[in-house]
Amino acid sequence: MKQRWIELKQIRFSYGEKTALDGLSLEVNEGELFCIVGPNGGGKSTTFKILSTLIQPHAGSLSFWGEDGVRFPQRIRPHLGVVFQSPALDKKLTVEENLFYQGKLYGLTGKKLKEKTAQILARFELSDRKQDKVETLSGGLKRRVEITKSLLQNPKLLILDEPTTGLDPIARREVWDHLKMLRKEEGVTVVFTTHLMDEAESADRTALLDRGRVVVSGTPSELKSLVGGDVIALKTNHPIELKNGIHEKFQLEAKLVDQELRIQQTEGAKFIPALVEAFPHQIQSVTLGKPTLEDLFVLKTGHHFWKSETRPA
Ligand code: ADP
Ligand code: MG
Repeated sequence: MKQRWIELKQIRFSYGEKTALDGLSLEVNEGELFCIVGPNGGGKSTTFKILSTLIQPHAGSLSFWGEDGVRFPQRIRPHLGVVFQSPALDKKLTVEENLFYQGKLYGLTGKKLKEKTAQILARFELSDRKQDKVETLSGGLKRRVEITKSLLQNPKLLILDEPTTGLDPIARREVWDHLKMLRKEEGVTVVFTTHLMDEAESADRTALLDRGRVVVSGTPSELKSLVGGDVIALKTNHPIELKNGIHEKFQLEAKLVDQELRIQQTEGAKFIPALVEAFPHQIQSVTLGKPTLEDLFVLKTGHHFWKSETRPA
């Protein structure tokens, strides 16, 4: 059997009594931009810490390019670039100084360090800001400096925990463009987490995470095709009656999600008039949409993305 480049199998991790990862499995191919998307509390940061070998899983296996990441984390670490969610920059130092210190930690010195720093700053379009103190930079630029720091040791794999959280849309796009450039031009495999569904759409492959498990994974178009047709969402004061009525009349299973009924239907637009005609008093509003990853999340988990943290008892 072909071995995946990175493979997490049935990973379990708990903080005391609290289960954070509950049999999480995922696979990443070499050279891809891989997204782990999930709601708050879904287990993204814990997965990030397992992938960066900062914590050990309580059960399950973890392998990187065929090496056992649980038994030999020290063999993996030199090949990882890790970007934490909370900024790890020294604000009083300049951009270049931040990189110099980091480089020294990795054992780079003299001309080699200077060259490497200059090259990375140019790649991330930060050369003209290298003398600026980090505290004077915008959030987006700080994030880019942070990423450059993690690249000094030429990692095979770059892992980032919510790299775009807190950034405005333009800064987010810029971080994105740089990550894409990195994977295209340097062949670095990039794994990042986000709680923003729309970011997942720009990745090569995505895993939807919920309550410590991967619900489903694939390319964005594969994932959307799993939804099967358009999505019709109905607002109603009588969800159960309407659900039963739709079943009787059309033999369709509507799904009740947070007081809203959702129906998957090919050519949804053609179906709406018949639906409204059949239940004129029960339907308050109808919306029709092309399937999104959020629809897939709802389909697979039975609850809305942003409501996920409220776990059933
Ligand atoms: P995410 O990054 O997706 O928000 P986390 O991996 O941080 O999710 O958290 C997963 C679950 O583990 C959540 O229910 C969270 O409350 C819990 N958790 C995370 N860190 C700790 C901790 N240090 N102690 C106790 N529980 C934690
Ligand atoms: Mg987190």
